[in-house]
Amino acid sequence: MIENSFFPWQIEIANKYLKNSDKVHHAIILYGLKGIGKFEFSTAFAASFLCENYDSKFACQKCTSCNLIEKNNHPDFKLLMPNSIADEKKIIISTSFDEKKNISHISNEIRINQIRDIIPWINVKSYRNNKKIVIIYKADNLNIISSNALLKMLEEPSDDVFFLIVSDCLDKLLPTIVSRCQILHLPIPDYQISLSWLKNNNLDNPNHWLSFSSNAPIDALRYSSHRKNPCPSWVYEFLQLLSNNLDIHIYSLLESYPDDIPINELIDIFQKLFFDLVLVSYKITPKYFIDLKNILDKLSIRTSTDSLINNFIWLNKKKKLSDQQVNKKIFLNNILNNVITSFK
Ligand SMILES: [Zn+2]
Repeated sequence: MIENSFFPWQIEIANKYLKNSDKVHHAIILYGLKGIGKFEFSTAFAASFLCENYDSKFACQKCTSCNLIEKNNHPDFKLLMPNSIADEKKIIISTSFDEKKNISHISNEIRINQIRDIIPWINVKSYRNNKKIVIIYKADNLNIISSNALLKMLEEPSDDVFFLIVSDCLDKLLPTIVSRCQILHLPIPDYQISLSWLKNNNLDNPNHWLSFSSNAPIDALRYSSHRKNPCPSWVYEFLQLLSNNLDIHIYSLLESYPDDIPINELIDIFQKLFFDLVLVSYKITPKYFIDLKNILDKLSIRTSTDSLINNFIWLNKKKKLSDQQVNKKIFLNNILNNVITSFK
């Protein structure tokens, strides 16, 4: 199902842009921090834009158009995303025969065929209401060939086609694409609004989860659906052993590594831990793990700030490698050994 309503922290900015929907630029780049609801903003924006109930400022959620968007079945609406993200969001995206032939694996990219497939659709008249809208989510996942194909479309705009291009980071987009679009920045939501939204979603300790997620409420909710605390129990037990200077049996740790923490997420957790350890070594309150102050205090006095910073940098390099195909156990072993060594 596709979301067609805005989150509370998005209402004001949506209102501003949709007030004059007749004057909406033909291509908008929507960007902002990961995990603040940019995807939902884009689909709610598209639904509001195509809604056929003209008394309603936002998507009325009742008309035929709103219903069709919800089912991702609107003839004037296209959603392009990598199939890995579609799988994660449980969204069925239309795939042409050629595309199916070429993909035998889950792809993290928006491929050239996905862009090419919409050309005939762009060139025919809209079915319902003289306007069509394409969401590209996320444009950070366009490869160079598909970026160039998108650029070509933006250079020759059709009167009735609107592009909503979603990105976590403008630097990842071709400057020539950026220069042809209106930029809409979605700011980090107000802390109190996020906090009460998470409380309404029955989250315990929403402040802990918000800190862990850099105040991005959608990420906070997503992480909390996988585990009880921001620091997974497997990592917590490892930190307990480390901070108490107890024997650590790498082999049994590797054996007990939970399947539900992908390696790149584990590196992210360690990066945040080391970032906090550096802060604590300077007597500054932790940023991400505000509930682990005691254990961080204990750990930080067992090593130097320089070593903590070096470890943080080393993890940054490892993060880049973790997106490639790696042997999970060897990679994990390497990370654990490096972390343990820095506290000896
Ligand atoms: Zn409607």
